[in-house]
Amino acid sequence: MGDAERILVIEDDHHIREFIVSALESEEYQVISAGTAATGASYAVKHLPHLLLLDLGLPDQDGVEFIRDFRGWSTTPILIISARTQESEKVAALDAGADDYLTKPFGVSELLARVRALLRRAPVQKTEDIPLIRFGDYSIDCVTRTVMRHDVPLRLSQIEYRLLLVMAANPGRVMTRRQLLIQVWGSQAAGNDEYLRVYVGHLRQKIEATPAQPRHILTEVGVGYRFEP
Ligand code: CA
Repeated sequence: MGDAERILVIEDDHHIREFIVSALESEEYQVISAGTAATGASYAVKHLPHLLLLDLGLPDQDGVEFIRDFRGWSTTPILIISARTQESEKVAALDAGADDYLTKPFGVSELLARVRALLRRAPVQKTEDIPLIRFGDYSIDCVTRTVMRHDVPLRLSQIEYRLLLVMAANPGRVMTRRQLLIQVWGSQAAGNDEYLRVYVGHLRQKIEATPAQPRHILTEVGVGYRFEP
């Protein structure tokens, strides 16, 4: 496959997907494409693309949720493909960590210009960066979205999982309440500190040996939380 830059396209509309794939292939990019979020996530791990093109309206997962999960383990640039009816989702997608957007319908030259701009600043992701996060007795598999304690899966809600992932992906770093609320719930939740307090409580009950004296999810008084692996 050589040294060509790899681009992953996740779009369920067959015609748009073919249009994008052929435009990119004509520029010698190596293109991998998927029609669902689940397939896209597994290809992202398998192929470690330099850029991700993501349709926000996918059949199996909300695009904004996909971005939040993806950002838990990858810094690969994301170019959103949105329909005009998804204006508010577009902002949420950018807040969640997308880098740029294209609104349908768009032309080949516009597509290629955005792709070139994002690839210029794309960091190179290394295989060892992904996608198993380990701490204490636990491991988080970012692809299957499962958390194991030794060999036993932990039952977590979607929110609990995402909160744990965001914190565990930033070990040792103080994260403000606002950062956590935006990354886990979305920008509309900034300021709802109560959500965070409740869910941190749930997580401590599930992962800490002594929830009242946590060793992984530490409180930074007046600021937020710090995760110690
Ligand atoms: Ca779609």
